[in-house]
Amino acid sequence: MMVERLQSFGDIQLSKQILQGLSEMGFEEPSPIQQQAIPVALEDADIIGQAQTGTGKTAAFGIPITEKVNAKFQAVQALIVTPTRELAIQVAQEMAKIGKYKHVKPLPIYGGQPIDRQIRALRMGYQVVVGTPGRLLDHLNRGTLRLQHVKMVVLDEADEMLDMGFVEDIEGLLKAVPEEGRQVMLFSATMPQAIRKLAQTYMKNPRSVTVSRDELTVPLIDQVFYETRESKKVDALCRIIDMEDIGQGITFCRTKRGVDELVVALEARGYFADALHGDLSQQQRDRVMKRFRDGKTEMLVATDVAARGIDISNLTHVINFDIPQDPVSYVHRIGRTGRVGRRGQAITLISPKEYRQLRLIENLIKTRIRRRELPSLADISER
Ligand code: ADP
Ligand code: MG
Repeated sequence: MMVERLQSFGDIQLSKQILQGLSEMGFEEPSPIQQQAIPVALEDADIIGQAQTGTGKTAAFGIPITEKVNAKFQAVQALIVTPTRELAIQVAQEMAKIGKYKHVKPLPIYGGQPIDRQIRALRMGYQVVVGTPGRLLDHLNRGTLRLQHVKMVVLDEADEMLDMGFVEDIEGLLKAVPEEGRQVMLFSATMPQAIRKLAQTYMKNPRSVTVSRDELTVPLIDQVFYETRESKKVDALCRIIDMEDIGQGITFCRTKRGVDELVVALEARGYFADALHGDLSQQQRDRVMKRFRDGKTEMLVATDVAARGIDISNLTHVINFDIPQDPVSYVHRIGRTGRVGRRGQAITLISPKEYRQLRLIENLIKTRIRRRELPSLADISER
């Protein structure tokens, strides 16, 4: 496929309202995935879009969708599905900026929010809805979300969405969208072959739009690991925090309980961190994310609920307190840093029995993760 190289957003057939929105966002030129995907999306083709973390996939679908919806027609015309609530909010916010001058503002719909308020909002006639699968399906079944006028469907983080847990919900949603003239777009940094196959059942002659499939992780992220016994991990983490120049960081744990325990252990040692996981109330989750986005929290300790898609502009560090069980998850976790040309540091703590897991990750990303020695206490006090 010949790919036309575009220099600026002005070279793409976009209306001046959209261009005005982009210029206000400070977007000067399209990123590679945007250059390739936007023209294809404007032609209504189905798309399987793959590009590394932090390379602007949201706008790659957000721009053509906002361009194509009819702002005068008060019905849902585009449905964007995301795996987490935090990501639904973030995608809706970015698209609201893109559509500011066209007066197209997406409605975020996700679990944990009062349903009555959502039902009232859905009656207002939004053109774009961004949500999580379960709650969207709930509204569909109640008849409060109507999808018969939907022309565009996006599965953001598609591989995660089509993973076992969500596939039935997604199918339920897609069945409610008329197939005639329907455009389906999948985006992710990781698109395993099995997902590509599965996706074919929902799509018509999908166009593959891929940016650097070989390198799953961005070279801007420096990746290292420290070996430490399981019982010494908290001490190791504290030493790393003391040594590293952390602007803002996310530390990932395997379980919700692990997150809570780590936050308590850190606080007992005089370090402050906020917890984020699925057992918190939606209000708590919103508050934690707001504090983090506002730069008030230095360290967020989270489960994989924060692994996908979350975009915090000054995140300097990602720390894997527990090595991810699924190598794909590693790619997404560390992809919270090193975004849009910025540098980032990814640190993984491994116990001796976790080397196998480390090798699996290295095989997937085709990169060696460098071993580093833990700083001694003396090194730290010298600083
Ligand atoms: P991805 O989904 O690929 O991980 P995002 O869509 O979250 O990446 O984008 C990462 C960051 O880059 C966001 O803060 C977004 O606003 C910014 N961004 C996206 N496109 C551009 C662009 N063309 N110019 C400047 N910044 C951009
Ligand atoms: Mg994204």
